[in-house]
Amino acid sequence: MEIQLTNSLTRKKEAFEPLKKGKAGVYTCGPTVYDYASIGNWRTYLLGDLAVRTLQSAGFNVTYIMNITDVGHLTGDNEGDADSGEDRMEKAKKREGKTAWDIAKIYSDDFVESFKKLHLTEPKEFTRATEHIQEQIDLVKQLEERGIAYTTSDGVYFDTAAYEKTGFAYGELSNLDEIQEGARVEVNEEKRNPRDFALWKFSPKDAKRDMEWESPWGVGFPGWHVECSAMSSKYLGDQFDLHIGGEDLKSTHHPNEIAQSQGATGKSPFVKYWMHGAFLKVDGGRMGKSIGNAYTLHDIEEKGFSPLALRYFYLTAHYRSSLNFTWEALEAAQNALNGLLDTIWLNIGAPTEADAKAVDQFFSALSDDLNMPEALAVVWDVVKDEKMNKGAKLATLFRMDGVLGFELDAELREAQDRTRTKEVQALLQQREAAREAKDFETSDAIRDQLLEMKLIVDDGPDGQRLKPVR
Ligand code: AMP
Ligand code: ZN
Repeated sequence: MEIQLTNSLTRKKEAFEPLKKGKAGVYTCGPTVYDYASIGNWRTYLLGDLAVRTLQSAGFNVTYIMNITDVGHLTGDNEGDADSGEDRMEKAKKREGKTAWDIAKIYSDDFVESFKKLHLTEPKEFTRATEHIQEQIDLVKQLEERGIAYTTSDGVYFDTAAYEKTGFAYGELSNLDEIQEGARVEVNEEKRNPRDFALWKFSPKDAKRDMEWESPWGVGFPGWHVECSAMSSKYLGDQFDLHIGGEDLKSTHHPNEIAQSQGATGKSPFVKYWMHGAFLKVDGGRMGKSIGNAYTLHDIEEKGFSPLALRYFYLTAHYRSSLNFTWEALEAAQNALNGLLDTIWLNIGAPTEADAKAVDQFFSALSDDLNMPEALAVVWDVVKDEKMNKGAKLATLFRMDGVLGFELDAELREAQDRTRTKEVQALLQQREAAREAKDFETSDAIRDQLLEMKLIVDDGPDGQRLKPVR
């Protein structure tokens, strides 16, 4: 199956042809672990998951890497300038009265836990910036040796003009205005060009940072963009296939990654395909911590929704379209997911052979630039198909679930196990006896007891029937 992806580098939809036949190296820019990840962030990580699952189902052997930014990068990068503003980790540490190392541990553990709850495909490695300081120093050294870096009083900078003299254009993916705009946020007189950006920042002379390291240039910490270039090349090679991130990264972070990597190795392209996901909105507007609507997975769970309802919600929109989060939309997603799970439950039995036509339609939609809404429509055609026999329906939905990622078979097994315990079976027998004796008080009490165990019992023509509560 040929997969077509919209490549931000060429601004075209292209057939995915990896550098090494049958293999795909994929990298997604991960979180800065200074706070809980928001539902906006999760939308982008779901795009990574969707791309990986689709490539895997098309037979590619995928190596997936995601970094964890546990060295604070500066708040200025939100305005397009990663070299200015306050360090996010330092800010969090003041807020919570902990060390930057504690902050990184708390939020990266939480990130990995939430990541699993959303059934996101785990990367081969979550590569941490703090565990790759040497690799980052080596990259800066390489740039310096090639004459593409210079030192000022506050750090080492990437020299964009020198980079362009090596034959590459700076600002790929972006339009240059955006970069220059960002660079004006805080004028650094020592920069040779406003577009130049920090590769290594020196610690302040009068203060000790929690996170700082020795380097050939002086004690300090790496610039934010450096980690992705250093770690992706370590795990995926100097050049690789697919790089993913939110659309905001297109203007500065990703062009800088490209410049650093191509500047250091002289090889182009650094990455063959770039995919960028559209932002999640909340209640029709921007999502933001300061607005108070940057909900986390914890908020979702506290309101009684399952993490997989959020996953379902993301799947309802194409990754390049904006998606608007409302609690009503999440509820609709939860109901749809429950409907899907009920279908699995009602078709309980041994899966037989998947319906080839439906499977083909599903994967054709995905292979067309990951068109998940269209693929999801095929899922519902199968759910509603009254002519398809139970075994085929189950097998078809299980096949599709390889990408949907609800782990329907595990869900089914778990629900079956819950109904098969001695305790539940005994309760069912007691209830049957109570009903025969017309003791409805006891029979209702047992029904409530089962409900507490998250099982609904109803009475059909074939006797009592259990259904798991979601
Ligand atoms: P940040 O928390 O800003 O470091 O972002 C981490 C990742 O989440 C990046 O890939 C961003 O592009 C992405 N991201 C941030 N906000 C949103 C949003 N509202 N919708 C989708 N992705 C987002
Ligand atoms: Zn990155």
